[in-house]
Amino acid sequence: MVATPGRPLVIAHRGASGYLPEHTQQAKALAYGQGADVLEQDVVATRDDRLVVLHDLFLERITDVARRYPGRARADGHWYARDFTLAELHGLAVTERLAATGAGAEFPGRFPPWQGEFRLHALDDELALLRGLNVTTGRHVGAYPEIKCPAWHRAAGIDLGVVLAERLEAELALRGPLPLWLQCFDPAELRRLHAEGFRLPMTQLIGRVPARQGDWAGADPLSTAGLASLARHCAAIGPWLGHVWRDGCDTGLVARAHEVGLAVHPWTLRRDRLPDGCATADSLASQLCHEIGVDGLFTDHPDLVVRVRAHGRRLAEALD
Ligand code: CA
Repeated sequence: MVATPGRPLVIAHRGASGYLPEHTQQAKALAYGQGADVLEQDVVATRDDRLVVLHDLFLERITDVARRYPGRARADGHWYARDFTLAELHGLAVTERLAATGAGAEFPGRFPPWQGEFRLHALDDELALLRGLNVTTGRHVGAYPEIKCPAWHRAAGIDLGVVLAERLEAELALRGPLPLWLQCFDPAELRRLHAEGFRLPMTQLIGRVPARQGDWAGADPLSTAGLASLARHCAAIGPWLGHVWRDGCDTGLVARAHEVGLAVHPWTLRRDRLPDGCATADSLASQLCHEIGVDGLFTDHPDLVVRVRAHGRRLAEALD
């Protein structure tokens, strides 16, 4: 789906994670209330093969798992969600994301670490929240689940891509239409799911260094040939912001992706972590929405993009 020019989808990255601890029900409800069009879910499997909304494979950056289960870290020092049941995960206290060093917050100035009452939740719970809010508001806010580390999950005994795709197909069949995109960094995974007959709209994520992501089937995803190849099974690409905007300028990727019919949903606009050379979050959001013409934008601050998007539309109407 290519969005209306100047009105890209506001995709709430881990919810309104600039304001509340990421991937909590509170962060999702706030994003919804701020006017986001889509809520993002990172999806990881638990020991009992349930799907939980969690960014990392492990737990210690956003929960009290190290204190609650001191003996259950693996040899690499991480507490993996795959080693815990969903019931155990529900019992953990969730905090604003901690810095990798373990000292202080990843984003100083965001929600204070260890304050408030927050919990992890299953993908099913988030879809129920989203469906319920769509009933009470009459809106059609969508979901944007990500298959996290599919090869790692296969080695750990679960085909996460297939389990998630089947869960989403069942969701659509049982409860009716919902705007939905299935995203993944691993290029082989989305190709495989398409080849196995899944027809959910898919978004190929493209990191800073695509060569590190896996098998691109011989075509650099940022090249015209690579984009054309992705267009055979994807609806959109989700590139690192630096691939569409660099040093204040449009790189041309959006136009080239549009030529082959791919929508472009870059990540991640954060007011408190702007790319080099960017004056303000508002100016960057405005340029992405109104000049470069992205079709969606992942952001930790949905209200900011909603406001900038609306301002641009009023400006355009005034000039007409
Ligand atoms: Ca994600």
